[in-house]
Amino acid sequence: MSSDTTTAQEALTFTDLGLSPKVLSAVTDAGYTKPTPIQAGAIPHALLGKDVLGIAQTGTGKTASFVLPMLTRLEKGRARARMPRTLILEPTRELAAQVEENFIKYGKNHKLNIALLIGGVSFDEQDKKLERGADVLIATPGRLLDHRERGKLLLNGVEILVIDEADRMLDMGFIPDIERICEMIPFTRQTLFFSATMPPEITKLTEKFLHAPVRVEVSRAASTATSITQRLVKSGSKPWEKRETLRNLMKAESDGLKNAIIFCNRKVEVSELFRSLLKHDFDAGALHGDMDQRARMQMLANFRDGKLRYLVASDVAARGLDIPDVSHVFNYDVPIHAEDYVHRIGRTGRAGRSGKSFTIATRSDTKYVDAIERLIGTKIEWHDGDLSTVAESAGEDAPRRGRGAPRRAGRKDEDRRDRSERKRDRHAKHDETPDAAREEQPVAEVADIAERRARKDAIRSENDRNKGSANRNEQRGDARPQRDHNRPARHRQEEDDATVGFGDDVPAFMRIVAKV
Ligand code: AMP
Repeated sequence: MSSDTTTAQEALTFTDLGLSPKVLSAVTDAGYTKPTPIQAGAIPHALLGKDVLGIAQTGTGKTASFVLPMLTRLEKGRARARMPRTLILEPTRELAAQVEENFIKYGKNHKLNIALLIGGVSFDEQDKKLERGADVLIATPGRLLDHRERGKLLLNGVEILVIDEADRMLDMGFIPDIERICEMIPFTRQTLFFSATMPPEITKLTEKFLHAPVRVEVSRAASTATSITQRLVKSGSKPWEKRETLRNLMKAESDGLKNAIIFCNRKVEVSELFRSLLKHDFDAGALHGDMDQRARMQMLANFRDGKLRYLVASDVAARGLDIPDVSHVFNYDVPIHAEDYVHRIGRTGRAGRSGKSFTIATRSDTKYVDAIERLIGTKIEWHDGDLSTVAESAGEDAPRRGRGAPRRAGRKDEDRRDRSERKRDRHAKHDETPDAAREEQPVAEVADIAERRARKDAIRSENDRNKGSANRNEQRGDARPQRDHNRPARHRQEEDDATVGFGDDVPAFMRIVAKV
């Protein structure tokens, strides 16, 4: 966008964009006074029926940039059974559910049928919604194709197709599914396509499926919001050292720390760190690929409502969280893929608020930090000195304080906890090649920890040893994934089945049956 265009767009109000009165009234009720740059840039073109290529990250208001014009255009016409009028593809269940929330919020003056097709939810309910005729169909690719294959869904009535978070679809291996779906929808459709970054595979996809798109780029690809204070934090490389660094940081930041998401690269680290934080009495929950949809949504709701201060998460599980006022993001691990850094820290400093991000870096992370700095085009400041002061050989057996140093009262328990954690670290198997697909492989650890924790809490509360803390944990118990051992084994199995691996969002390449 030229600076003239940018200045003209900055002066725009929602009424200038061509949205219908019903939509404008809902936007006013939502409290928004000015369109964000992606909204100002995309909405007028989307209303004219043009294809749009929106390059924008989450947190820029991009959801409303397609939801608002869609609502306006949907005011004419009505849905037919099993033939949705519009389709929005999202990479994760959470994102799909958030888009549905947006349709409900901005579509409160419309009578639209919205169907959400995501894994982990029964087909029957979804079938009923499709049968009734959906104006808006929001889906993850795997579940959408399942419905199509069951013959319950016809895509030849789709007038508007939205492909959201395309670069994440690529990371998750969904591109073959997206191509299949695009080929099932009439050529005459309008396509609105969004991606935070434009790797070559995504560019190819847009060349194949978009028709003379209007390109709206609200910030340089993979740029980070200026409202976020970013810092690197030096640490030794052993897990217990990193955990200690994190705890010290959390304590030091405690005053301005309203809530935080703590990102780990691997699922196994999510569960280890979650367990460790609980032991150290931090008010933490975990968001994990193995939790069923209900547990994930509940966990998110508790975090959003302030019942939980810290959320430990992996990139895949946390993708697309819309939590407007997260004050801090901690990267327990430097992300292997530089673009994940942008997505992670984009969880704070949203919608013009300020936020802080701290990335714990060890000597072996240098090349990943360099890649991030190249991508974002800026050097990230060190919080408290760089890695030159960290001993290369700082290992788990290195003494952590001088032999004769005085012990503080109350350290004994903490030391015992640290020792047991270090022992576990020595035995932990570490797979060094994380990726989104592997992250979603089943490990039922978090659920088990939560269950053990709930049991421990129950005993604690029975003994009435610590009334205050027991009450808090009781409240949190709902939010954590728990298995009900009183339920018949068959039901437990069904619950487990629903949550294994990708669930219903299996990418196409994993569905191919090998010929023997
Ligand atoms: P998104 O990028 O769609 O995830 O939106 C990020 C956040 O910005 C959400 O919490 C929206 O509710 C909020 N938002 C969207 N549009 C506006 C706007 N025009 N003014 C202020 N906040 C907005």
